[in-house]
Amino acid sequence: MNCTDLVHTYLDKISKCIHLNAFVEIYSEEALKTASSLDLKKHDSSTWGSLYGVVIGIKDVLCYKDHLVTAGSAILKNHKAIYSATAVQRLLDEDAIIIGNLNCDEFAMGSSNENSVYGKVLNALDEDRVPGGSSGGSAVAVLADLCMVSLGSDTGGSVRQPADFCGIIGMKPGYGRISRFGLLAYASSFDQIGIFSKNTEDVAILLRVMSGVDEYDSTCSDSVVPNYPDLLQTDKKFNIAYFPQSLTHPSLDPEIKNAIEQMIAELKEKGHKVTPIDFNYLDYVVPAYYVLTTAEASSNLSRYDGVRYGYRTPRPINDLSDLYKKSRSEGFGKEVKKRIMLGTFVLSTGYYDAYYAKAQQVRRLIVEKTNEIFSNNELILMPTVPSPAFRFGEKSNDAIEMFLGDLYTVYANLAGIPSISLPLFKHSNGMPFGLQVLSNNLDEASLLQFSNQLMKEKVNTN
Ligand code: GLN
Repeated sequence: MNCTDLVHTYLDKISKCIHLNAFVEIYSEEALKTASSLDLKKHDSSTWGSLYGVVIGIKDVLCYKDHLVTAGSAILKNHKAIYSATAVQRLLDEDAIIIGNLNCDEFAMGSSNENSVYGKVLNALDEDRVPGGSSGGSAVAVLADLCMVSLGSDTGGSVRQPADFCGIIGMKPGYGRISRFGLLAYASSFDQIGIFSKNTEDVAILLRVMSGVDEYDSTCSDSVVPNYPDLLQTDKKFNIAYFPQSLTHPSLDPEIKNAIEQMIAELKEKGHKVTPIDFNYLDYVVPAYYVLTTAEASSNLSRYDGVRYGYRTPRPINDLSDLYKKSRSEGFGKEVKKRIMLGTFVLSTGYYDAYYAKAQQVRRLIVEKTNEIFSNNELILMPTVPSPAFRFGEKSNDAIEMFLGDLYTVYANLAGIPSISLPLFKHSNGMPFGLQVLSNNLDEASLLQFSNQLMKEKVNTN
């Protein structure tokens, strides 16, 4: 099969699955054009990039020059990127084919994909259930084979949680591993671009391509990027920690608890060292996350003011502040407005110390505890989500319950460490769920090596 045939196959599949609502825009013509130019160099593989012919979808928060980028929001309706994100450009430079941009919760705020201006994305495993969020379109596109791999963004679990709900792999690298240049910001000290795939090899290849220093993002690490694909195969035994508190939490589904406990026992049998470690901050991670991310969001989203780009109210205006008020009230959805207001509140004089400064202190304690854990261990194990994919509408009127679903994922973003969700388990209700593995900052290599061992074993036992 050549690249053109391949793209045709994906486009057919996409048109058959259009009701899943995974895509915001499909770049049919352009993808075919790229494919045919790749086919011209078919006979000389020495000219191929490392992603030659790999068909990729990107979340609607990643800039791709001259293409729509709207963050699932009316405030960016019809907005086209004027440059490409570094991560996207690096994929293109390696001969990838970008097939479209993918639906998500507005400004990546949500856990169910019910907050997009384009409507909800359906979980292809059970269309009455949510695909997870905020990168729901990216997860469903990989699950339903509408592209080979996809990109999402993960501020508090938006790659790992939809991967868990859709039964695929979702990986968030450590903070600073991949440049955030060209990623529409939600909470800048948490945001990372992440990868969806069905196998560890593809995660390793994409991570290698996108990682590394970037002059446009000063928070991007300049540490050497290992050759992840070459390092993947190893039978190394790991030192692994887990938090007993994470398994006794009242919100955890008993079947998920059993599966993780059984996994811990099996890993010990196989010769890994698995140690329980007290982690007393679990009840603080969700509050700290929502205080800090909404504070950062209230600042980041102040740029959408109806003046330079995006939506501007068509109604008559009295003055500049009236223009801001009308444009922002009409352009932002409910969840985003709620978070901007919450963020503005926690930063306001009189409340700053009680909320924002306190949450920063909690974050500091979490980082210190994390450093201590990784001084003796290479990995941490946890559930990814307390329960499998829920039904549409089930949690949309209960913000607290929705937020509590982020219990296990926000820790990695608070600590800035890499984390992956591996599709290893199935619930008796028929839905999949994942094992979450975390590693020390910028030690994605150990994370991928261990993940590869588990995924290979899964294939062998099936
Ligand atoms: N569900 C979380 C939230 O709503 C995570 C979002 C994300 O990672 N972008 O904030």
